[in-house]
Amino acid sequence: MVKDNLLKIKESVPEAVTLVAVSKTKPASDIQEAYNAGQRHFGENKALEMRDKHEQLPDDIIWHFIGHLQTNKIKYIAPFVSLIHSVDSLYLLQCIDKEAKKNDRVIDCLLQFHIAMEETKFGLDIAEARQILDSEEYKLLKNIKICGVMGMATLTDDTQTIRNEFHHLKNIFDSLKKDYFPDSTSFNEISMGMSHDYNIAIEEGATLIRVGSSIFGERNYSK
Ligand SMILES: *Cc1c(COP(=O)(O)O)cnc(C)c1O
Repeated sequence: MVKDNLLKIKESVPEAVTLVAVSKTKPASDIQEAYNAGQRHFGENKALEMRDKHEQLPDDIIWHFIGHLQTNKIKYIAPFVSLIHSVDSLYLLQCIDKEAKKNDRVIDCLLQFHIAMEETKFGLDIAEARQILDSEEYKLLKNIKICGVMGMATLTDDTQTIRNEFHHLKNIFDSLKKDYFPDSTSFNEISMGMSHDYNIAIEEGATLIRVGSSIFGERNYSK
């Protein structure tokens, strides 16, 4: 089942777009099945769950952290995480930098933006992002690298609303790239799009899509 779902989705995703298979709440055996079908990028939203799965599964899996990250849990994923999609404060960035340094690594990060109408979702607005990028504190950080932006659209059937929100995130990316990363070869990523809206996200410029339930089936939301 997982394999069939995965292969079907991959057919519709352009090669330049990275499919992150969101395996949160799902057992390691499901990840192994996707891995055996060729999938390497996986996304998790809980630090301890990700650490446990990392220990059980093949070493060449590329791990994406996509959830709200508590600063006291960074240490569990700092040794191996490939990309943290969900940075929404200078303080979090400083804490990630500190843990990355302990592991003698540079950790790639995305700035998460609040683009949806819902109030509950985490994320920055453009002014807050500029404040971070302008700060002296940010310029001191040597063990993190900001590689782009991430956002989640409103949970709605109104595709025009979703499209507008993704378009807004693309505009944020373009303006940050122009003002802060004009010569950077690594500020390239726009992480947007989930099971129900990844096609729109791709049309609006996503480079990373985060797809869970369409691959692994519905989650048990009691978790
Ligand atoms: C759970 C989750 C996803 C995947 O959602 P699906 O609707 O299952 O595809 C993507 N992004 C984030 C941040 C998530 O928490």
